[in-house]
Amino acid sequence: MIPLSAPEVGAREQALVAEALAAGDVAMGPQVAAFETAFAALTGRAHALAVSSGTAALHLALRLLDLKPGEAVICPTLTFMGGVAPVIYQGATPVFADVDPVTWGLDPACLPEAFDVAGARGLSVRAVVPADLYGQCCDIGPILDIAADRGVPVILDSAEAVGATLNGRHAGAGALMAAYSFNGNKIITTGGGGMLVSDDAALMERARYLSTAARRPAVHYEHDEVGYNYRLGAVAAAIGLAQLETLEARVARRRAVFESYRAALSDLPGVRFAPEGPGRLHSRWLSVMLLGPDARVTPDALRLALHAEGIESRPVWKPMHLQPVFQDAPRVGGAVAESLFAHGLCLPSSTTLTEADQARIIAIIRGELT
Ligand SMILES: *Cc1c(COP(=O)(O)O)cnc(C)c1O
Repeated sequence: MIPLSAPEVGAREQALVAEALAAGDVAMGPQVAAFETAFAALTGRAHALAVSSGTAALHLALRLLDLKPGEAVICPTLTFMGGVAPVIYQGATPVFADVDPVTWGLDPACLPEAFDVAGARGLSVRAVVPADLYGQCCDIGPILDIAADRGVPVILDSAEAVGATLNGRHAGAGALMAAYSFNGNKIITTGGGGMLVSDDAALMERARYLSTAARRPAVHYEHDEVGYNYRLGAVAAAIGLAQLETLEARVARRRAVFESYRAALSDLPGVRFAPEGPGRLHSRWLSVMLLGPDARVTPDALRLALHAEGIESRPVWKPMHLQPVFQDAPRVGGAVAESLFAHGLCLPSSTTLTEADQARIIAIIRGELT
């Protein structure tokens, strides 16, 4: 089976893991702080906290805002569940807004209505949580402006956008806090893990405390509130350190994979590829193809044809407002997310995808679409 997005690990990961194990650094060790320092440098932030997942990073961020039931968070409807579940963990209500047709991120034009719809339901909006989808930065500038006008912070879900930039700044820049994922299918992985970053020292100190079971400094572990077990282990951090060293090459490789698909398939009727917005370096974490009504087959028929050949492909994220669990959640905006879900197909995008395998995938797609 050719997977959608496989982890790539090599000799450097093995060496750093072996070093960690030889030193007895299994759960705790200097690798964790080193990984945090390196990631803070990459993202241009004062502070970084390594955690067990991207979802955990976002959850900590929302907990830091003291988000409560009866309060709302504005989220893009086109995203992965990990970007929304933390809102529910805090007992709050997500308000889903449509996305921009170029960046596929939260459409700033939908924000005023999202605030109004929340207000009409008696919900006070406490945060905006946009996402940088498939490796591309959202339109963070206008989102920050509108949120600031309303007096609410922006927490950026950059889980899919490690290595991506907007106007030369790494994904996540500008937001009060940003979250990243090192899940096995992302561009760099720790097997499972995440990172929370911010420039606010007090917030990050509290995040670190909450991520380690909220223990007050007493030998008997004094607790006056309840926290989480969200810390990342040293072995995972060792893998992350090795992965970070090759991030630039990984972005270049994923972009080359995307360009090969685009060059080989764009002439086919009804075929388009995910755009790259102005000022952006799209990491092309996943190569996404769009099949319009004049394409020979539907995205699902193409997916099944690829599956029959042992090739994994997947639809674009199903919009959250269409998910059964969120059928009653407030939503605003048009149908951009629904259209991307209907027409999109994510193609194998691994850094380890061989030229021969990609040529075979392209030949199968051409066969189906000609
Ligand atoms: C992967 C992902 C997450 C969650 O990250 P995990 O590390 O899997 O918990 C959150 N949001 C988006 C958009 C993601 O793709």
